[in-house]
Amino acid sequence: MKEIFNFCAGPAMLPKPVMQQAQTEFLNWNNTGCSVMELSHRGPEFMALAAKAEQDLRDIMAIPDNYKVLFCHGGGRGQFAAVPQNLLTGSGKADYVVTGSWSQSAVSEAKKYGDIRVIEPVREVNGKKQVLPACEWQLSSDADYVHYCPNETVDGIEIFEVPETGDIPLVADMSSTILSRPIDVSKFALIYAGAQKNIGPSGLTLVIVREDLLGRAMNSVPGIFNYQILAENDSMFNTPPTYAWYLASLVFNWLKQLGGLAKMAQLNREKADCLYQFIEQSSFYENRVAKQNRSTMNVPFYLQDESLNDEFLRKAKEAGLLALKGHRSVGGMRASIYNAMPLAGVKALVTFMQQFAEQHQ
Ligand code: PMP
Repeated sequence: MKEIFNFCAGPAMLPKPVMQQAQTEFLNWNNTGCSVMELSHRGPEFMALAAKAEQDLRDIMAIPDNYKVLFCHGGGRGQFAAVPQNLLTGSGKADYVVTGSWSQSAVSEAKKYGDIRVIEPVREVNGKKQVLPACEWQLSSDADYVHYCPNETVDGIEIFEVPETGDIPLVADMSSTILSRPIDVSKFALIYAGAQKNIGPSGLTLVIVREDLLGRAMNSVPGIFNYQILAENDSMFNTPPTYAWYLASLVFNWLKQLGGLAKMAQLNREKADCLYQFIEQSSFYENRVAKQNRSTMNVPFYLQDESLNDEFLRKAKEAGLLALKGHRSVGGMRASIYNAMPLAGVKALVTFMQQFAEQHQ
């Protein structure tokens, strides 16, 4: 079978060695005679796996000791609701920085719980979107927290600097950027991410939260979304998504073996540069994000002649290049090139794009 490269934005491809290991031990994990998904989450075998996964993640991301790592249900959208219900209990006000469709969705959810102030720092300059530097965001001084999305999965906009918010807790939706490059966790009060891009399969959501933010939740918050309850119960207040947690543990191990996030960032930069440089020199394709905010993980692009979109997608699929259709809200194409996508996949895409352009020019 010819090699297939899956550019889906999420659920996304997982590293091949991880999938192979999961396949090998599917029916008999760790000599238990059972699949890992058939074991009690409270049994010693799974507890050991869970603890090791957390430790590996702490090592990879250099998570300081005063942060809890929670393995939750509910996805990114679950956190759109959980964040305000846990943190919006001081002034009842929060600043939300909107840079694309996911941060906008976070606002819609948060508005149910308090007074949400929206900051919109995206500007269009010469047909390219760019984000104003964080020092120009004009954040308020009485917010319970500032929320932003460092990588907008749909729009392909990434913010590489970490905003300075002083004593105001900084909350980041890192669903599509987590583990793609090193970050200084201590600059954030809370980081969350749905697993289905760089962590594992959907159904698992990671929350990394500074301990002093626990215990502030609204009384009405459901127990399974209460960070303090989750932390006190080692993320086992209810039955966690054990198989997704297991796959995440394999991904963390894969990342460690590979050389950690510095190495991962280098590989990701190489892939993104390869694709952006090709698009940049082409008159057939176009990317509409300014260079300083081009996402390393999600590369949206447009054909100058959009009537060729369907043919492009059909031929790409025939060539083994899957899921290149842009999000329905923005159209065009999008290549998601998360950690698991090898450089060979990006090169195959560039070769295909070049040939397609030559055939239609
Ligand atoms: N935030 C971002 C940045 C995302 O990319 C997504 C999903 N693609 C979400 C939130 C929503 O995640 P979920 O579907 O897990 O609720």
